[in-house]
Amino acid sequence: MTAPQTALSLFEEIQSGQRRAVEVLEETFARIEATDQRLGAFNSLTRELAHKTAQEVDRRVKAGESLPLLAGVPLAIKDNINIQGTPTTCSSKMLANYISPYNATVFEKVDTHLMPVVGKTNMDEFAMGSSNENSATHMTRNPWDLERVPGGSSGGSAVSVAAAQVPLSLGSDTGGSVRQPASLCGIVGMKPTYGLVSRFGLVAFASSLDQISPFGRNVADTAAMLQVISGSDPKDSTSIQGLQPVNYLENLNKGIQGLRLGMIAEFEGEGMQLEVCDAFHNAVKTLESLGAKVSKISIPSIEYAIASYYIIATAEASSNLARYDGVRYGLRNAEADEADIHTMYRKTRAQGFGDEVKRRIMLGTFCLSSGYYDAYYGKAQKVRQLLRQEFEKAWMDVDVLLCPTSPTTAFKIGEKASDPVSMYLSDIATIPVNLVGIPGISVPCGFDNEGLPIGLQILGPHLSEERILQVAHAYEQASGFANLTPRLG
Ligand code: GLN
Repeated sequence: MTAPQTALSLFEEIQSGQRRAVEVLEETFARIEATDQRLGAFNSLTRELAHKTAQEVDRRVKAGESLPLLAGVPLAIKDNINIQGTPTTCSSKMLANYISPYNATVFEKVDTHLMPVVGKTNMDEFAMGSSNENSATHMTRNPWDLERVPGGSSGGSAVSVAAAQVPLSLGSDTGGSVRQPASLCGIVGMKPTYGLVSRFGLVAFASSLDQISPFGRNVADTAAMLQVISGSDPKDSTSIQGLQPVNYLENLNKGIQGLRLGMIAEFEGEGMQLEVCDAFHNAVKTLESLGAKVSKISIPSIEYAIASYYIIATAEASSNLARYDGVRYGLRNAEADEADIHTMYRKTRAQGFGDEVKRRIMLGTFCLSSGYYDAYYGKAQKVRQLLRQEFEKAWMDVDVLLCPTSPTTAFKIGEKASDPVSMYLSDIATIPVNLVGIPGISVPCGFDNEGLPIGLQILGPHLSEERILQVAHAYEQASGFANLTPRLG
């Protein structure tokens, strides 16, 4: 297969009338049908919805009206983002039959931009996981090697783009769930600053960390997608108020001459796959050759980031998931009607949640219980504060920070499934970013000896999206690692 078309070139062709949006959409569904049996990226398709949008695009082109950015470009959306009248399952038995009664703000934005949404993608149940193995529905496979995981929790969204089913997709990133699968699948994934993209209509996992995030086949497409979904939202109290719209595409080519880059010292060596280290160092050399200055920066509290994350995230999750009680949402156990209310709760939750979700609810409830709250939750919040201060200090010396996105390339299905702690370690380099709320992007930076992709992570201060996109774009142009295509047929 030749390299698939990027979202922006597709948009240009649709806008100029060279191609019809409906025809692009039909090709997209044909590609999904031909490949998804093997890949398992989708939970459900939204054909009718997509067709209506594509038809509107074609009508406007015919009438000579101008189109909003990315109009007609097919999009896949993670199955934890609500679209009215369609299923939102979070890949959980708990929500297997749940139909959204309202739209997420990101969907409203995407819809205003006339992007046809083709379906909802598979994920780890309630976005808890790093491999997609925690989905209650089916496995999603890595298109570079079908015996390997795509990463998670937004594995379905990552695969839909990596396998060229769609040019763009949306996921959610609480501790790395967009950047890590982007790295493992050889595409671009970007977590924006906390509060830049509305969380209204995203099913909550850990509310102080969750952020809806785009995937693309190159940096420019990803920047365009971010432009469509970002902005203040009065419906989300954690959305940053008064944001001025930024054109992320305008200065993408600015270059990185004189920019100060810091390599995070804590990610040198230990626990990192050798080829990942090599590819990372080569990427840093490339950036240096483009005129950037490189130094080493230490963020000592990174050592405690994973431990703190698994206290904060599980604490918030245990509270957020209390709403699945057999009354308000989704599943109710069949025998529950004869039971007293506590038995009904217990049976419903025992039946509806998978093992990882249960593990986290127990852990989170324990950390918040009286007598343990200060020792665990309070301590974790202190680490979070320390991390924030250390990053703030780093920004005095450097403009962006660099590290590998994931310590390893894609692992085999089943390899880590029985060892939660080793699974948790795959997010060692992504989790600190969510804890401090800054933006981060993962771009492909090479392959290991087995031909599996490796990702470079670029971080910047709050609201420095434009800058980290410029660095990512400069690197992509120099390295040529863009629009990578697995041999899938
Ligand atoms: N893998 C991490 C976890 O399991 C991150 C998940 C996410 O970002 N949604 O919690």
